[in-house]
Amino acid sequence: MHYTLEPIGTIRSPYQEKFGIPRQPALAPSAPVSLVLHPPYNQPDCVRGLDAFSHVWLTFVFHETLARGWQPLVRPPRLGGNSKVGVFASRATHRPNGLGLSLVALKDIDTRDGVTLHLGGADLLDGTPVLDIKPYIPFVEAKPEARGGFVDGPPPQLSVQWQPKALADLHAWPQAPSWLAALIDEVLAQDPRPAYQDDPARVYGIRLADCDVRFTVQGQLACVLEIITPAQN
Ligand code: SAH
Repeated sequence: MHYTLEPIGTIRSPYQEKFGIPRQPALAPSAPVSLVLHPPYNQPDCVRGLDAFSHVWLTFVFHETLARGWQPLVRPPRLGGNSKVGVFASRATHRPNGLGLSLVALKDIDTRDGVTLHLGGADLLDGTPVLDIKPYIPFVEAKPEARGGFVDGPPPQLSVQWQPKALADLHAWPQAPSWLAALIDEVLAQDPRPAYQDDPARVYGIRLADCDVRFTVQGQLACVLEIITPAQN
């Protein structure tokens, strides 16, 4: 049996490539992410009552990686990229039906022109197709006593230091979004490097909000070297 699913909306987010996106929601709360609903779902009636909920579940398609298929075993970054677990014991993007599930904060619902949900802390690529929205129901779904397998507890964080050049780059861009510096701090603190890489000389680049953020990681310290902003391109 096959099913055809139609997206009900599209994500707009500052994450323009997979690299650098936090590995779960809530890890980078400064990211301003919105969900723009498509017709015929972009009518206020479809979201009536939703504003009473602080969080929603989003079901979405890992559209960027869908074509690469899946494997029975995956190497979660939290296990250092060495140990394997079953695909169904992981949140890996490469899975049989390519479906993602994120619990995100619902900050605001704008129904002035269609329907746009403003979300907090989403781990979603710009352009992600969303299949469904459901309110989060804390009394049934919050399980503080639950066991978290190999992801019991938040990941270790890096300290983030800015070189004067990087600060100057941002200040020289008049249209720099007010949240961008905080988002860069949050994204780099997650240590976005692939698990098996530890080369202190290597300069990484993350595309974020139309900028190229260049940084290195030495030990537990991420160092922002420069920000190539649209003003420089
Ligand atoms: N919370 C989700 C996602 C976990 S995997 C879930 O549990 O299902 C998180 C990774 O998904 C991020 O690091 C990002 O690189 C990737 N991702 C986000 N949006 C994507 C998309 N549209 N296509 C492919 N990968 C995506």
